[in-house]
Amino acid sequence: MSAREWIEKDFYAELGVSSDASADEIKKAYRKLARENHPDANPGNAQAEAKFKAVSEAYGVLSDPEKRKQYDEARRLFGSGAFGGQGGGFGGFGGPGGFDLGDLFGGSQGVGGLGDLFGGLFGNRRPGATGTANRPRRGADVETEVRIDFTESVRGATVPLRLSSPATCATCRGSGARPGTRPRTCPTCAGSGLVTRNQGAFAFSEPCPDCRGRGSLIDSPCPDCRGEGVSTRSRTLTVRIPAGVSDGQRIRLAGQGEPGRHGAAAGDLYVVVHVSPHRVFGRSGDDLTITVPVTFPELALGTTLTVPTLDGKVTLKVPAGTSSGRTFRVRGRGVGKKDGSSGDLLVTLQVAVPSKLDGKAAEALADYARATADHDPRRELNELLGR
Ligand SMILES: [Zn+2]
Ligand SMILES: [Zn+2]
Repeated sequence: MSAREWIEKDFYAELGVSSDASADEIKKAYRKLARENHPDANPGNAQAEAKFKAVSEAYGVLSDPEKRKQYDEARRLFGSGAFGGQGGGFGGFGGPGGFDLGDLFGGSQGVGGLGDLFGGLFGNRRPGATGTANRPRRGADVETEVRIDFTESVRGATVPLRLSSPATCATCRGSGARPGTRPRTCPTCAGSGLVTRNQGAFAFSEPCPDCRGRGSLIDSPCPDCRGEGVSTRSRTLTVRIPAGVSDGQRIRLAGQGEPGRHGAAAGDLYVVVHVSPHRVFGRSGDDLTITVPVTFPELALGTTLTVPTLDGKVTLKVPAGTSSGRTFRVRGRGVGKKDGSSGDLLVTLQVAVPSKLDGKAAEALADYARATADHDPRRELNELLGR
């Protein structure tokens, strides 16, 4: 990207924040947009992918205080219509008796100044430079996902987590060149990684097109990283998921993100936990829920039920005359809490009506209906209906 494109991008608008937004506001805005537009959440959605890239790029600049300062400075110098002014506003200087813009900006000093300004924007590409890239920088936070089953979420679980992250290629030690060979200095930019291009009255530094800003050319690329100097490192972490975790919860593992640069602290690892539903049990906060089918005679005459729990069973006495839909609370058989206590098991009884009755049962039920004809369960409704 040329310096001009870079300045013309409005990273603040991309993140939907004002240009004086705090680091915290920027982080929040980025997290929200990144989550909404993440390719994993929007498979095949090119628009979301483009937005994801754009907000990542914007955040990459605005989250780094040094880069943000340079970006703000560059925008102050060249932003808000100054480019458009080349033809209009500056035109007056070109008239007879005016002075030549080439004199103003053309001196090697002027160009050098711009080069310094933009050099920092493109990162550390000059050999031996002491730019921002050499300073200690905290490693990036990493987010990953894990799926556990319902029982594990209630009891807690230890799960192995395989993480892939970029790391310096071990074969070429990051040079990108096949072992035994070395990258050579790019002749186009003489190793600076930047070329200066004149555009109208202005001179711009931009990444060298031949070495793509690296400052060096690799004739024989490293076979393991194909010349990138970076390979993918896999590591397996054992993550302890605490008991009582709920679906969608994020767990932070301090210091398990990307390693920091030049002695700075590592980033954090965030693990988003997905919980597969149970075929019988549900959850309501710290309480477990279960629906138990019962027959009408069991509710009408009363019964004793054996109800499964996650770790055994309980006996539940159902008094005669219990309504369908009633919920019983079995203390302490729910989800374990941090303080060592447990939530409850909520048992909801629901009448199961047979879809077919044989003749004898149907007859008995008809007898029952006649015997209870005086009992009208809809009396209140009937009053409303005027019957
Ligand atoms: Zn070059
Ligand atoms: Zn390599």
